[in-house]
Amino acid sequence: MHTFPLVYLNGEFVPPERATISAFDRGFIFGDGVYEVIPVYGRRLFRLAHHLARLERSLAEIRLRNPLDFAGWQRVVERLVREVAAEDQSIYVQITRGVAPRDHAFPADARPTVFAYAQPASYPTAELMASGVAAVTAADIRWLRCDIKATALLANVMLRQQAVERGAAEAILIRDGLVTEGAASNVFVVRDGVLHTPPNGPFILPGITRDLVLELAHAHGIPAREAPLPESALYEAEEIWLTSSMREVLPVTRLNDRPVGNGRPGPWHARMLALYQDYKQAFREGRVE
Ligand code: PMP
Repeated sequence: MHTFPLVYLNGEFVPPERATISAFDRGFIFGDGVYEVIPVYGRRLFRLAHHLARLERSLAEIRLRNPLDFAGWQRVVERLVREVAAEDQSIYVQITRGVAPRDHAFPADARPTVFAYAQPASYPTAELMASGVAAVTAADIRWLRCDIKATALLANVMLRQQAVERGAAEAILIRDGLVTEGAASNVFVVRDGVLHTPPNGPFILPGITRDLVLELAHAHGIPAREAPLPESALYEAEEIWLTSSMREVLPVTRLNDRPVGNGRPGPWHARMLALYQDYKQAFREGRVE
């Protein structure tokens, strides 16, 4: 059933079928927890420091102490990666406020539940990058702390399902006339050779892939702006991209059943994808951290 032999749960490495938690865990009862997803290319942890820094921040925002230091996390996730046969994997890490009688207020003495596993992953194929995906717009019905990578994802789940039922791969979310992000991705728009993406803040997750795309753009002289992005920019866009750890930089070629630009991935996407793939290759070979 599982494609991985071991999971990490509360200090122990156990087979997945033995990784059980209490039904009174606040993660189950309230969604009171945070998580991370870390890509693994060629058995190396991609942007580990960025992911652990974001985890640290999410934990601080919900007032949970980080159960492990950097070296501790590194030991755990490296061991998980070693146990999985595939070269390319993804790691899931989750921390909840632990087991306590049901009461909304923080329990005085609960021990956080700490869970992690690695599994084989397939990243977007050249075919998918060449065809692009469909997206739909939807009202951003989430809360005002989307900067916290919370496990409580009911709104995101409903929004993604809405997209799937309309034959699309992602919902692009609109709040007060502005684009925020995708249900599980950040959004870029290209117009007149300039990349546009909404600014970090309470309405979006500070994406690690978003940061890397901005870094690569900066390093290669591609103009990029982080500024509020009106919904109308989507309909005037030459290109739209979704970015996330698992989807990398994925072109949107149809929006609300209409073509984006000429309906095919554009030249700026080709350029950014090449930069992204080169960076990944350098990372696989240990030339960049
Ligand atoms: N926004 C949301 C809501 C997400 O769930 C994700 C995926 N974790 C992202 C953005 C992209 O973040 P990252 O590039 O760090 O995977």
